Amino acid sequence: EFIKESMLKVDDEMSIESPQISKAKSELETLHEDRRTLPIYAHRDSLLKAIEEHQVLVIVGETGSGKTTQIPQYLHEAGYTKRGKVACTQPRRVAAMSVAARVSQEMDVKLGHEVGYSIRFEDYTSEKTVLKYMTDGKLLRELLGEPDLASYSVIMVDEAHERTVSTDVLFGLLKDIARFRKDIKILISSATPDASKFSDFFDCAPIYRISGRRYPVEIQYTKAPVADYLDAAIVTVLQIHVTQPPGDMLVFLTGQEEIESAEEILKHKISGFGLEIPKLVICKIFSNLPTELQAKIFQPIPIGSRKVVLATNIAEASLTIDGINYVIDPGFCKIESYNPRTGMESLQVTSISKASANQRAGRSGRTGPGKCFRLYTADSYKTKFDDNTPPEIQRTNLTSVVLSLKILGIQNLLNFDFMDPPSNEALVKALELLFALGALNKLGEVTKVGRQMAGFPLDPMLSKMIVASDKYKCSDEVISIAAMLSVGNSIFYRPKGEQVHADHARMSFHTGNVGDHIALMNVYNSWRETNYSTQWCYENYVQAINKAITSGFFSHSARLQNYGSYRTVKHPWIVHIHPSSGLADNFPRWVVYHEVVLTTKEYMRNVTELKPEWLVEIAPHYYQMKDIKDA
Ligand code: ADP
Ligand code: MG
Repeated sequence: EFIKESMLKVDDEMSIESPQISKAKSELETLHEDRRTLPIYAHRDSLLKAIEEHQVLVIVGETGSGKTTQIPQYLHEAGYTKRGKVACTQPRRVAAMSVAARVSQEMDVKLGHEVGYSIRFEDYTSEKTVLKYMTDGKLLRELLGEPDLASYSVIMVDEAHERTVSTDVLFGLLKDIARFRKDIKILISSATPDASKFSDFFDCAPIYRISGRRYPVEIQYTKAPVADYLDAAIVTVLQIHVTQPPGDMLVFLTGQEEIESAEEILKHKISGFGLEIPKLVICKIFSNLPTELQAKIFQPIPIGSRKVVLATNIAEASLTIDGINYVIDPGFCKIESYNPRTGMESLQVTSISKASANQRAGRSGRTGPGKCFRLYTADSYKTKFDDNTPPEIQRTNLTSVVLSLKILGIQNLLNFDFMDPPSNEALVKALELLFALGALNKLGEVTKVGRQMAGFPLDPMLSKMIVASDKYKCSDEVISIAAMLSVGNSIFYRPKGEQVHADHARMSFHTGNVGDHIALMNVYNSWRETNYSTQWCYENYVQAINKAITSGFFSHSARLQNYGSYRTVKHPWIVHIHPSSGLADNFPRWVVYHEVVLTTKEYMRNVTELKPEWLVEIAPHYYQMKDIKDA
């Protein structure tokens, strides 16, 4: 049950309506008309003029006003691409791919030709590419090979308000490049009205504001806190579907697993409804969703039916789905957190910020008046939600960033021009780990191993594991494992009602009590070639592999203490083996793990047994005998 609380700001610029589309028009004509109805269109000429006049320009405009899709096209039309490529960075992979696809349609070119995208592990560009959508992390990697970005004429750092680590580091580097490359243009675009921080950082760069159009959004809160937000979200979706006028829905959930279980429950519930209820089309979007399925959220649905989009934070600002009138906001998101003291990283489900909540609500008022159902009380919004989420650079492991900056020749990181500097403790921790991994020498200079490691677009611990695999003659296997670890947690699917079968199938990759890493490799190998013998000579071969894993992940070691719980070796922290692990019931005495996730407990995910002697052998800078002595 909801109570009405407030109305978001009502804008007076509501005169622009979507055009009436006649069937006779070609798809391309319609796309061109759509371009002209976007709020940014009225600003085209003055925006181009401002870009011409200033080297650095901060651009602010409400989500959906056309910044991401239009500005690069305007620049192309104005001739900037004759001097070099236009890069447009996105914090999220899916956004880069989806926007590039859209822009290639609008320009009527093949994706990968004039318009392309480049994200980690996937480069969809060619010699012809002049508009390049890419993740901010990808541009950072390109900088390692081209420190002055000579092949670019304009860099647009988009979704700057997200303040990812890569975006923040790019800010510092671009500011420097702008000093010696007077011909390059830097655009910083953001959806948050408070852009003065960006302007201040870039030596008082002017702020260009794109006046948006926004319809009123009615916000409703729950009267009491909800016990289970997933359940509450599903009930709300169904209530809206049967009681509210037409209009699509957008539900913000925290991750793939949650989205998939919501989808299953919704499908099940809907199947019990009679035919008099309109059809509900369920769409989903999250970063690991296969490319083919991503486009579904934008596709039109049959007349008379209603769409519900189950999305992660990605739909908060990076992607705009037209036709949303109802937003359901449980008030949570998954964020990374890092404790430099213990070196522990974890992904935690936490309350969103007020800024996020308002951004989410705003998604319902883009094409008409909207409603936002907040699955929390007005009081928690006021008292428990922070104003803004702290920038990622202040809550993440900096090992990878520090290695990149060192490769770029930035010796003294304490002097680097960060918009919001990370803590010294986090920087020192990163330096220590890089030293222990052999990537830096005692003087803090990058070693040969460090350069090899930086060649991989991976976390330094994974890179070290690969570099070390050469010595143990198991590179092929270790690269497979690294690849499997890099695709996230979606390898094993555990559908509701089929858990027993799924667990059985998963355990079949664990024959011989191998750790989770080897199991991942077994999965990969069985997939790659079914005629490949899965009879591993475990004794030696597998141990080689485990040593290579330990070479990268030695800092992630833990020792069994009381039955079932583990204590991390270097900085005491109590953790448990995740139930999805093949070793969950084995309780090996010593383990190395890939990551810790915080759900009901601190769980180690992807665990492999290790011999404590290896720690001292492989990482003598990090471990001494006393660390591995049995207490
Ligand atoms: P902004 O960057 O200011 O948030 P965008 O340029 O992303 O705005 O969006 C402008 C318009 O383009 C929106 O109406 C949005 O729905 C549409 N659009 C963007 N990407 C796609 C896509 N992949 N498919 C269909 N429409 C899209
Ligand atoms: Mg955008």
